[in-house]
Amino acid sequence: MTIATFRSRLFSLICSFVAAAAALGQDSTVELVVDATDAPLQILHARLQIPAQPGKLTLLYPKWIPGEHGPTGPITDLAGLKFNAGGKPIQWKREADNMYAFDLEVPAGASAVEIALDFLFPPSSDDFSSGASSTARLVDLNWNQVLLYPKGAKAGQIQYAATLRLPPAWKFATALPLASQSAGVVEFSPVSLETLVDSPVIAGAHFRTVELTPGAQPPHFLDIVADSAAALELKPDDQRRFSQLVAETGALFGARHYRDYHFLLTLSDHVAHFGLEHHESSDDRLGERFLIDDDLRKLGAALLPHEMAHSWNGKYRRPAGLATPDFQEPMKGELLWVYEGLTEYLGYLLAVRSGLWTNESYRQTLALEAARLDEQPGRAWRPLADTTIAAQLLYSARREGAAWRRGVDFYPEGDLIWLEAEVLIRQQTQGRRSLGDFCKKFYGGQSGPPRVVTYTFDDVIAALNEVAPYDWRQFFQTRVYATNPRAPLGGIEGAGWRLAYTNTVPDMLKAAESAHKFTDLSFSLGLIIKEDGTIQDVIPNSPAHKAGIGPAMKLLAVNGRRWTPEILRAAVKAAQTDTAPVELLVENDDYFKACKVDYHGGEKYPVLERDATKPDLLTEIIKPLAAPP
Ligand SMILES: [Zn+2]
Repeated sequence: MTIATFRSRLFSLICSFVAAAAALGQDSTVELVVDATDAPLQILHARLQIPAQPGKLTLLYPKWIPGEHGPTGPITDLAGLKFNAGGKPIQWKREADNMYAFDLEVPAGASAVEIALDFLFPPSSDDFSSGASSTARLVDLNWNQVLLYPKGAKAGQIQYAATLRLPPAWKFATALPLASQSAGVVEFSPVSLETLVDSPVIAGAHFRTVELTPGAQPPHFLDIVADSAAALELKPDDQRRFSQLVAETGALFGARHYRDYHFLLTLSDHVAHFGLEHHESSDDRLGERFLIDDDLRKLGAALLPHEMAHSWNGKYRRPAGLATPDFQEPMKGELLWVYEGLTEYLGYLLAVRSGLWTNESYRQTLALEAARLDEQPGRAWRPLADTTIAAQLLYSARREGAAWRRGVDFYPEGDLIWLEAEVLIRQQTQGRRSLGDFCKKFYGGQSGPPRVVTYTFDDVIAALNEVAPYDWRQFFQTRVYATNPRAPLGGIEGAGWRLAYTNTVPDMLKAAESAHKFTDLSFSLGLIIKEDGTIQDVIPNSPAHKAGIGPAMKLLAVNGRRWTPEILRAAVKAAQTDTAPVELLVENDDYFKACKVDYHGGEKYPVLERDATKPDLLTEIIKPLAAPP
């Protein structure tokens, strides 16, 4: 069967691209046709034609997804799998020791295998790109979910020609180069499997695209799909800030490693919320009202800066252990304290430099992170490096027990460690150099199309030493590879501030509590409580823990009265001037228990406080570098 007839059989109504498909004519190119017209029904249909020789063939489903740092390929939701050659069905068998591998026998005379498969979207789930990705009005398509590839093929070498069919009148955006487009059918230029998987598509009924750097090369776009037309409203000030963000990345890195850049922003309360980095785009998913609700905007402000910074730190420069050739080889996450930790630092920096955050929002975020890490007892047994090596487990770990287990702490703790590195560079060089000089040296270089340059721990040390000679190896050994009872607060303190506590809930925490429906008393009683009273976590050795409260119990009443966040906070405040303990009635499975919490320290929330004995380096660090666009 030829490519053209194969395609016309798939979508008999589509004839416009048949000629183009025949013109492709490359025997080694895999044809992939994805039908997303049923996306609102939570299903994608796909057809592939993979060139093959007669004999044994093993086809693979992507397992290790770049940027997710784990074996997160959603194999469970692959359905309707059928193989054909020369019009006849082929039997297949999954390998017993590799759930992602399918063995089949290509019959004599055949030159290709045709595959039909469906992908079932999880309607509500938070598992990154394998989580909820489709609603009645939009879809986020990650190509790795709808394709197979021959075992032994290198993702950077095998070519895929993809075609996408969308629901009527839906518009789309992607960094993938377009070949042609007609009546709901989009044909993309053939690219490597690596580029295809690196180039997601967003599409929807409510769509808007904004060019952020008109007339400049390379171009930058903010592409938005949303569950309502109202959610697409981008305030002129915010548009200016996103343009400033692009300018700030240029000032920070000094070169760009993409042909164009697309922020692919999905605004919906029914998709998983996360960001996933790519060379030439980012898959950014936030709540529907992100652009129009001040609290949501403040909470999500650092997402786009973080994901864009990954184009340099993570995609262009990548730890050798995370640059695998074929989506099957296990990734090694040990250097995630650079890949994610430094990106967390730079993302925050870019958010405040571009005006997406105020200085105060930045400092409140820093204080909350620092305090949470500082109070976290799990740091007594688990070095930060173990959270990177075990990242593939910790991304999906339960929230209950997080304070003792630790989580993906290489994000916030990486932020603090790189802030300290920034302060040290500025101090060592009497203010002549900054971490920005390291960024230009390590991530800048020559502008051009995407490529991957891997690095090791030694490369990071060498580049830092070129910027400011220091015992950087020892610096990271003690902070990353050894256990430390206290959080690395040297950056905050060296920058002229200190971690302190107040009795007022900071705005950033208030916004987070209201958006994510929880009450955070972890710095006083030692409790985080969900909206329905379920105890999300108890800080070991905190007053609540000592009173016999554990994770997953349910809070029912405070001093004999049904609990609300306000009643609980009022009781903590009143106990400051009272010797009686706060009595919490909790439910532990089917048993009720009254726990007397002997705590009289009042409400406590972290803030950064200015240390007037030192210069205010922090305010200097977060100043914009680029001229306003
Ligand atoms: Zn990241």
